[in-house]
Amino acid sequence: MGVPGKDMADAKVKAWESAPPSPSPSTPSAEALSITGRPHLSWTQVSSYQQCPRAFAFKYVERAEADFIPSSLLFGSAMHEAFAKVHECDMEGLPCPSSAELAGKVSNLLNSSLLPVKYSKGESSETLHALGQRMVDAFLASPEARPEGQVVCVEDRTSGVIDPQIPPIEGKVDFVRLTKDGLVLRDYKTSRSRWNPDKVEESAPQLRLYATLLDRELDGWRRITAMEFVTVTKAVKPVVTTHAVAMRQESVQACIDQIGQVWDGIRKGVFPTRPGWPCRTCPYASRCPAAINPAGATDEP
Ligand code: SF4
Repeated sequence: MGVPGKDMADAKVKAWESAPPSPSPSTPSAEALSITGRPHLSWTQVSSYQQCPRAFAFKYVERAEADFIPSSLLFGSAMHEAFAKVHECDMEGLPCPSSAELAGKVSNLLNSSLLPVKYSKGESSETLHALGQRMVDAFLASPEARPEGQVVCVEDRTSGVIDPQIPPIEGKVDFVRLTKDGLVLRDYKTSRSRWNPDKVEESAPQLRLYATLLDRELDGWRRITAMEFVTVTKAVKPVVTTHAVAMRQESVQACIDQIGQVWDGIRKGVFPTRPGWPCRTCPYASRCPAAINPAGATDEP
């Protein structure tokens, strides 16, 4: 076979070229465009609505200005960029970036926010830079920095219609590689503690949905034959762990049903407040009469 990244890009271009150029006014896609300014729903939007519909409306419907960015969001994005850089170099046949180079990248991204950063208790800019360095070192020392197979795509988007009653779903794919058995889809997660099997299964629908979207988008070029989360803990000694995820079609259908319910709420303008632990890091709390102050909110489960 040729260069996998190019083959995959060609397969996607073919799919995009055969897609209608713009949504007709009565489609769910057009409705989503008129509500959120985007012709699709992303997994991030669906999760946001499920966590607090009112926060979803502030962000995606009213497009209100956020008061700050939570440090966990900024840090997670910076670490994803660092992991992606390692795989991009692999894809382009370049040497693996050094620990200093990657930690510098993380630091630059942490300093790049235009919004004020809201740190968690006991956290500061310095502690996050140091944590970034430790996590980069742990990742580079693990086999997950250079897993078996050829890199096919890094930080790419996949999208498609999974149900004609809901807008196309879009997701960001962290990493896909081609092994002798087929395509392996990977998603990175940074977390405070190690994941147990319950946490893996709780997060698995996202990966299964992305695999379904990719399979459809690639239209027979290759299939996703394995899925995995790679978690890196935000600890004094970060631990890198791979968690395999099995495909379960009923889980994909349950996920589609949930997205359908969320979409129904969005298109009907159902945006109730859902006060609780998310209020602690909600960038719209100053506008929200239901906001629970940090002392009153229970911890993230
Ligand atoms: S402050 Fe709490 S209830 Fe209000 S929008 Fe934010 S998360 Fe929802």
